[in-house]
Amino acid sequence: MKNSRTMSAKKKFAGVGIPMSDPNQPMKPPAKVPYKRIATEEAWITPEILNGYRELIRKKAADAGFLSLWGVFVKRGGILLDRLLDMGETRIKDMDATGIDVQLLLLTAPGVQVFSAGKAGSLAAASNDQLAEAIRKYPKRFAGLAAIAPQSPGTAAKELERGVKKLGLKGAVINSHTKGEYLDSPKFWEIFEAAESLNVPIYIHPQTPSPDMVQPFVKRGLDTAIMGFGVEVALHTLAIITSGALDRFPKLKIVIGHGGEGLPYWLYRIDYMQEYNRQAFRPKLKMLPSDYMKRNIYITTSGLPWAPAITMAQSVLGMDRVLYAMDYPYQYRVEEVTMTDKFPISAANKKKLFQKNAEKVFSL
Ligand code: CA
Repeated sequence: MKNSRTMSAKKKFAGVGIPMSDPNQPMKPPAKVPYKRIATEEAWITPEILNGYRELIRKKAADAGFLSLWGVFVKRGGILLDRLLDMGETRIKDMDATGIDVQLLLLTAPGVQVFSAGKAGSLAAASNDQLAEAIRKYPKRFAGLAAIAPQSPGTAAKELERGVKKLGLKGAVINSHTKGEYLDSPKFWEIFEAAESLNVPIYIHPQTPSPDMVQPFVKRGLDTAIMGFGVEVALHTLAIITSGALDRFPKLKIVIGHGGEGLPYWLYRIDYMQEYNRQAFRPKLKMLPSDYMKRNIYITTSGLPWAPAITMAQSVLGMDRVLYAMDYPYQYRVEEVTMTDKFPISAANKKKLFQKNAEKVFSL
């Protein structure tokens, strides 16, 4: 009896999960494929920002979500932090081991958004210089998004422009809320204006939910990637859509990860309910939420190499709107790649998923 229960628990895990190989042991690279694997949500950090995080943790001078997440990472230390910091041969070796041709690099969450405005702005600029340097060294293997500090929207817009025009970066990453504030507030829209006129996307990457909603998650250990991240970015994306920002900036491109953070699954209900739930202070939208999802939003597969979820998202958003991502080094496994290689879609659509869509959205 005991045995059969253990067996069925194992089977159930194998049905939805990734077999847990050890990414610190030598891996057999995946089979060669007729497309480039471009991974579009790959994380890195600078030593200066990591030191800044250590200081915030020591002084308990940040929100509960940050202290919970980075408190654990910093305490644990080791190979995760080593991998985030490495922008050279170790990272390239890890890419080779999993068949990744190109990494699009994003300053890891919460980026500079936990710091004061002045410090955040200078750390963002310095990190963009370092990122550009790494890309110059490995132009065929790395591309990247600029880090910006939404704490000062005007400075952030200028840094985005510098990142794109002077440093060759391909857009910006914003790690969801900035000290509890979301981009649906018009005070941030200079950033949207800059991104739209530069024709580059903004990647809204998760961080732990904002202070107003994080407590019930932290208490239960659900504040990070298990659920809190997805809830946070789903809220953020819907907030932008329902704010009317995408009527004001119709060509703005926004990218979200993790299979669209649940939104593709909910689209019917979101469309059905949005008029009924509309608040007096929210503008009347020109289109349905699903129309904005299909016009302005791109999603990546980061951390979700799972065919049922991703093919569902492709079926409602379209094959051109879903891009491959691994989520290195957080979800660094060769099985992550092979599971995605095996998705039940045509060869042409697989090439879109792994290569063509990324080349188009990020102008690679
Ligand atoms: Ca990530």
